[in-house]
Amino acid sequence: MNPFLNPVFALKILWNYMRGIDRAWRYDREKLKKYQDKALRKTLKYAMKTPLYKKKYEEAGIDIDSIHGIDDLYKLPLITKEDLIKGFPDEIVPPSFKKDKAYLVGTSGSSGRPVQMYKDLEYIMIEALGGVRLLKAYGMNWRKNRITNIGDFSIPKTTDEECLKKGLMGNLQPFFSLKNYQILYTGEDIKTLMEKMDKFKPELLIAYTSVLMELATLKTKGLGKNVNPRYIISSGEVLDSYSRKYIENAFDARVLNLYATTEGGTIAFECTHGNMHINSDFVHVEILDKNGELVNEGEVGSIVITRLYPGGTPIIRYTGLNDLASYSMEECNCGMHTPLMKSLEGRKKDAIVLPGGRIFPPATIPMPLAEAAEKFGYAVKRFQFIQHAVDKIEIRIELDESPKVDEEALLQEIKNNYEKLAGEGVEIITKVAEAEKPEGMITTPLVISKIDKSVIEKELL
Ligand SMILES: [Zn+2]
Repeated sequence: MNPFLNPVFALKILWNYMRGIDRAWRYDREKLKKYQDKALRKTLKYAMKTPLYKKKYEEAGIDIDSIHGIDDLYKLPLITKEDLIKGFPDEIVPPSFKKDKAYLVGTSGSSGRPVQMYKDLEYIMIEALGGVRLLKAYGMNWRKNRITNIGDFSIPKTTDEECLKKGLMGNLQPFFSLKNYQILYTGEDIKTLMEKMDKFKPELLIAYTSVLMELATLKTKGLGKNVNPRYIISSGEVLDSYSRKYIENAFDARVLNLYATTEGGTIAFECTHGNMHINSDFVHVEILDKNGELVNEGEVGSIVITRLYPGGTPIIRYTGLNDLASYSMEECNCGMHTPLMKSLEGRKKDAIVLPGGRIFPPATIPMPLAEAAEKFGYAVKRFQFIQHAVDKIEIRIELDESPKVDEEALLQEIKNNYEKLAGEGVEIITKVAEAEKPEGMITTPLVISKIDKSVIEKELL
């Protein structure tokens, strides 16, 4: 049964939800934290009905009544991806949970073994709120503005695909007018994507960074004359500073970062002041070091999330995202009071590890390349780092035919910059070559690490 067929229920729930969107503006930091404390207690009560959590907490001797709020969160054991994989399907939801009525979603296989989990309709509605909040922050109207979303809709079991298949978009109609919403598939021919958007004329465009880079190259060649979005949102892949500028130059539009995952929904998004706001009323974010301790402000650590609304599979102190970030205690003056990520650094397994355990996260490693490439007039249209060994890094770049650049000089400058960064004894290979696409991936990743993962794990949580 679709609860949204019941108008009384729909009205009530809609009202609660819509009020929730404004929390980021209406609540100050203290009130947001109080809200989190209450939401956490509710979430824990629900989690205790779930065999996986009940067992974990009992084994650790945790009495959930002793967890009064976010400040006590550290007392709870961490939950890993393996916990969810092992607990599937019966231990990751309460026994009374109606699995047949729920959405079964999974992470895509590109990040190792996929995780499967359950979401119910309310759960997905709250996730959608993160998107509505983002639109509001950009001064856009979710009933009027035209949005193109190039997503994972063709990949079985992603949240996107499940929602489409089960007709969820219809249920989201109070939030999004479908007439104004264009859904396109990542992996479709890039020119076709541009042509479809050219007809639709989006005001907001959401896609993977690598897809946006390809679209940007087409745009500089004069394609997509009617594709002039006000904002472009990069999601699903790391957004480094060079790629951001390349896309911004091509479209003459702001590029903003969105951090959304299957397990955590819309975790954070970048406001027009350039700060990454965490939707802390929906998801609490901890950034931990390799010992599981909170890192200092500005230091890079692993993201651990706690979803603060019940329903479906609880996500509490979950380490499985494997992403790196840092946080800031500062407040943004854009009007939203939600806490800030200082940087979002990409996947842990894609970090470049140099001798002596020096680590460069995916979003940081392109900086010396950007420095060189900018001097040569944005002729680099795509690049990729392949770490073959701790002392051997290959950098591939794809060049645009126009403007013509001194290829050798550019390669040499990039090489010099990385030799300086890496220090003696690290071989840096730079060449003009197409980016590699590993099997099972629909996009070409920024970093391919071929080194033993335990080398990375030794240094990070
Ligand atoms: Zn802001």
